[in-house]
Amino acid sequence: MGIIAGFKNITKSYHINEIRIPVLENVNFQLDSEDMIAFVGPSGSGKTTILNLLGCLDTPDDGEIILDKIDIYGLSKNRLAEIRNEKLGFIFQSFNLIPVLTAYENVEFPLLLENISDKQTRKDMVMEILDKVGIKELAGRLPSHMSGGQQQRVAIARALVKKPVLVLADEPTANLDSKSAGETLDLMRKMNEDLKTSFVFSTHDSKIMNFAKRLITLQDGSIVKDERK
Ligand code: ADP
Ligand code: MG
Repeated sequence: MGIIAGFKNITKSYHINEIRIPVLENVNFQLDSEDMIAFVGPSGSGKTTILNLLGCLDTPDDGEIILDKIDIYGLSKNRLAEIRNEKLGFIFQSFNLIPVLTAYENVEFPLLLENISDKQTRKDMVMEILDKVGIKELAGRLPSHMSGGQQQRVAIARALVKKPVLVLADEPTANLDSKSAGETLDLMRKMNEDLKTSFVFSTHDSKIMNFAKRLITLQDGSIVKDERK
């Protein structure tokens, strides 16, 4: 256990032409490791902005972000990319699989980027995680020959194959029917329990509330509720 990530007095605005649009105002939280946390709230409340900041994909105007005990303020783009590769996994609403690669090759891809050169080592890692997410038998399939729910399982396997400390999933069920959405969330919860990976996801779907262990509700860029279940 411990703290996997924290925001201290985070302020973030976007600028369109000369106009400043405040998005997050003085946001504070600490996320425990091995937890499963959902940011919930209406569209436009700031969920994606928070996940992008946690994912080192964007920087705040002001405040402090701690990620796995590292203060990420002022780090170079290269260092942030290293932190992303080493510590984080991402799951997207639209799966973002590479269409010309099989399920196996999509999951192997981050290992190639990491220069894990031994083919058998890669194979063991890929097949272990495909097995855990329940689609080992689909290893040779292209994304276009899989259902949305199956594609999201591949994406979960890809996010987890390097055993990141934290997985960020922005509206991971938005493009799924409710049965597949439920299965996807069950799977994330199982991975959270089996692998001790911390999960942070965002949603505006109230059904998802059952799957998270902690719900942080946003409204107009501020936390209005923070409840553990
Ligand atoms: P959510 O994910 O909860 O729907 P977002 O974090 O995407 O909310 O957006 C929060 C607010 O910031 C919204 O009002 C949105 O219009 C605005 N916003 C988001 N991204 C940009 C951007 N790149 N430029 C300008 N405004 C943005
Ligand atoms: Mg969003």
